[in-house]
Amino acid sequence: MQKLTEEYLEDAIEDSKPYASSGKVNMDLPNFDETMKDLLGVTIITNEGESLSAGDHHHYIPMQSTSKIIGLMLALQDFGKDRVFQTVGMEPMGDFFNSISQLESYDTSKPFNPMINAGAIATAALIKGKSVENRFNRYFDFLKKITNNNELQMSEEVYQAERANSARNRSLAYFMQSTGTLVTSVDDALELYFRMNSVMMCSEDFARVGAFLARGGMTSESEERLIPPHHLRTVKAIMMTSGMYNSSGHYAVEAGFPCKSGVSGSIIGAIPGRMGVGVIGPAISPKGNSTAGGALIKKLSQDLELNMFGVENT
Ligand code: GLU
Repeated sequence: MQKLTEEYLEDAIEDSKPYASSGKVNMDLPNFDETMKDLLGVTIITNEGESLSAGDHHHYIPMQSTSKIIGLMLALQDFGKDRVFQTVGMEPMGDFFNSISQLESYDTSKPFNPMINAGAIATAALIKGKSVENRFNRYFDFLKKITNNNELQMSEEVYQAERANSARNRSLAYFMQSTGTLVTSVDDALELYFRMNSVMMCSEDFARVGAFLARGGMTSESEERLIPPHHLRTVKAIMMTSGMYNSSGHYAVEAGFPCKSGVSGSIIGAIPGRMGVGVIGPAISPKGNSTAGGALIKKLSQDLELNMFGVENT
């Protein structure tokens, strides 16, 4: 097995970078342009608390859909599994993440799973709080604890762009209002969802979320469990089956550990009992996954023997 060192991670970055050429940078995001295409950064945080980084790991990008796993954790914490999965399904979906037709094809009263836009909007609506502000602050405080980073910022610019490009998400939310799936108003659910997507993180922050999942709800700094491990089992299972959009099956086979991506080119990976991985690589495939980041995740899995279903040598 390859030894995990920063030199190895630098080499892995160089090997994976060429895959960026098959992706496109998401120009809907503020300050995202072609010059970002070749950015690739990675951080790994082991369960022992060791942190190793390589490439463009200092670069901050919006969480986008990686926020969906934090939203799911809070909803599970607030309402428990049974109630959450009355609102949203736990089945993978073969359509694109913002699909409208899927809302009528599985069960008209719930979206397929919490990792697609409709499911995440419905899940965000479940997060408890007196106001959008209050609910976002709960989300943000939780995220700051998980990442052990009090300096995290929500980008006002990204948030405004989310609102300005919201026609599709708005239509999903209105549909879910018509079926009684949304437990808040359309505006309240979306306002929270847009803010959640707009928090800026670097690969170390993403890796800390992965490490938190890998350590059963504890950060490396504190032995206090922020969320019961049974909720994290649910989150990791849903990441495995639905976290990489409609390429989740591919990543289950080729990487073999739970991951969640975002259209900013972010990826969070969790290898239970071993480590968390955070990747940033803004060139994404038509399905929404970082192309170079995805190649890197698969390479790490092979070289470091991270596949939970068994490795070559066993
Ligand atoms: N801003 C995106 C949306 O809600 C986030 C989706 C994503 O990262 O998959 O449409």
